[in-house]
Amino acid sequence: MAKRDYYEVLGVGRDASEEEIKKAYRKLAMKYHPDRNPGDKEAEAKFKEAAEAYEVLSDPQKRARYDQMGHAGVEGMGHAGQGFQSMEEIFAQFGDLFGGRGSLFEELFGARRSGPEQGASLRVALEIPFREAVTGCSRTIDLRRNEICDTCRGSGAKPGTKPTGCPVCHGSGVVRQGQGFFIIQTTCPRCGGVGKVISAPCPDCHGEGMRERKATLRVDIPPGVEDGVTLRLQGEGEPSRHGGPRGDLYVVVHVTDDPFFQRDGDDLICQVPITYAQAVLGAEIRVPTIDGEATLRIPPGTQPGERLRMRGAGIPGRGGRRGDQIVVVQVLVPRKLSAEQRELIERLGRLEEEINEQRSFFERVKAMFRD
Ligand SMILES: [Zn+2]
Ligand SMILES: [Zn+2]
Repeated sequence: MAKRDYYEVLGVGRDASEEEIKKAYRKLAMKYHPDRNPGDKEAEAKFKEAAEAYEVLSDPQKRARYDQMGHAGVEGMGHAGQGFQSMEEIFAQFGDLFGGRGSLFEELFGARRSGPEQGASLRVALEIPFREAVTGCSRTIDLRRNEICDTCRGSGAKPGTKPTGCPVCHGSGVVRQGQGFFIIQTTCPRCGGVGKVISAPCPDCHGEGMRERKATLRVDIPPGVEDGVTLRLQGEGEPSRHGGPRGDLYVVVHVTDDPFFQRDGDDLICQVPITYAQAVLGAEIRVPTIDGEATLRIPPGTQPGERLRMRGAGIPGRGGRRGDQIVVVQVLVPRKLSAEQRELIERLGRLEEEINEQRSFFERVKAMFRD
């Protein structure tokens, strides 16, 4: 099936600002949200389509590629190109993008996440070397996150006391301000919307109900991750003081550069030097690969800069297929020669002069300008 233009999907112009794109996406996401259209396959497809369009157009880098090359330009970047497979993926991707609770997130996902408030989600950065990003690896990360205070069990009140009704909002959690027509309802500034205040705070957490604790977690990084990918560890965020589910932990993966390999999609690119004799006569050489080493056949007459492909030696891609390793051939020109080398090269030089290879090249160039 042909894909619709992402700007058309969101109903915005090609020069739309980031804010306009976000607004358009919110509108569509609300309209086609599965909770509002239960069992409606068409709405679900529209919801996914909008999420895909938003993923590309909200990212300046992806948007620029899309503007230049269309759908082909963003294929293989994130979910774009293959679409979102499930609703959960969309929620995982954009859940915290709407600014957390009390915003569109709640409006959109309120029906799904009814019940007590979820704990806070956390975000950490993790740096891994290029080669381990290709093969996949696991890491332990240390972080500090809040846990429910043992002393007060999260109430924030000194043991033996209880939180009391908030004197400002009288327990409702909201205050109304203004006169006549313009009455604005806001969260109570005194109790933060809880409706209760603590008169005798817990001595261990100073009334917060939570205390910071060290945690050590294992993160499994799948093979082939790209720089900037975010992994989600469900339930590894902070607990909820109100009995809701724990928040999530987002791990943003940064991949460091490799001195030998560069990445191009699922292909690995590297430069390998060979001698003049090897380039002319052909050879079999050993080449470093991500798995160790492999033999590469250099065909006779290989030119400097030629690209030789080692199939299946690249990065594990989607569907288990691996990319290739592409070897860019560099021909070494020696800076110092032994007496024997000099003698041989000089002999070769005289031979080449006799064959007149270079002269025939000049003749051809001259001939081109003569006409
Ligand atoms: Zn406490
Ligand atoms: Zn209050």
